[in-house]
Amino acid sequence: FAVMGGDGGRQPAVVFDDIGGQEVAKNELREALEFIRDLDGIRRLGIRPLKGILLAGPPGTGKTLLAKAAARFTDSAFVAASGSEFVEMYVGVGAQRIRQLFKQARSLARKQGKASAIVFIDEIEVLGGKRGQNAGHLEYDQTLNELLVQMDGLATDDEVRVLLIAATNRADMLDPALLRPGRFDRQVQVDLPDKTGRLQILGLHARNKPLAADVDLATVAADTFGFSGAHLESLVNEAAIAALRDGAQEISACHLKGAIDKVILGEKLDRLPGA
Ligand code: ATP
Repeated sequence: FAVMGGDGGRQPAVVFDDIGGQEVAKNELREALEFIRDLDGIRRLGIRPLKGILLAGPPGTGKTLLAKAAARFTDSAFVAASGSEFVEMYVGVGAQRIRQLFKQARSLARKQGKASAIVFIDEIEVLGGKRGQNAGHLEYDQTLNELLVQMDGLATDDEVRVLLIAATNRADMLDPALLRPGRFDRQVQVDLPDKTGRLQILGLHARNKPLAADVDLATVAADTFGFSGAHLESLVNEAAIAALRDGAQEISACHLKGAIDKVILGEKLDRLPGA
């Protein structure tokens, strides 16, 4: 069972400062995570442990980055999977994979000598959709039931504390059982970046790239309304490719301008029916 992320379970190197904009999301997430860090306080005050955090928002806005930064912030082991990995033809396989994922998180934490682990599930709506709506898809229901069982079993006095962070761009599709107290208690909205956010993200991705004197990233940020962080990353990369193609030593304003159009066009083409 392959774990997404490709880092073989090593500590993700992402820190909150590597994520541009998203100040509200970062603050809410950090505040929620203080919980895991202050175990003594939680016990003293008899607080119900935080089991799940849901990151909701459009694709490419940094939800995966936030989950990785959360692992780093809490010094937790990190395992990741995508909701679609749990959908199988055979009844029971998805549920078994869920159990394996949590088990794997615990054993990785033990191996790394960490007191906590974060399980990240992207596209949670694929397995956590409303039950009973997938007529004949008993498998979905069993998988979701197993996820609920695993979440209910998470306790603060476990040898390894496990926190589930899930991401979705369709929070409205989730089974209400997932949103009940004691499950995903916290929902953090991760929206498309505003102009300031876009400028920060552009700055992060242009950090190691030579920019010509005519480049003003604030103008680029102003011209990229509606772009996600992933779009902006791709924009800077496309501009660098254009500069290389021109035989230029630096990325100039025209390369960035061309790259904006390219990203917009790519997006439009992707949305054509049948594409
Ligand atoms: P999806 O819902 O499609 O899984 P996501 O919200 O999890 O998307 P990420 O995988 O975190 O998005 O982001 C994809 C890439 O886009 C990142 O690896 C990064 O290069 C860039 N990116 C997205 N958001 C940001 C951001 N806020 N700051 C810096 N880079 C970002």
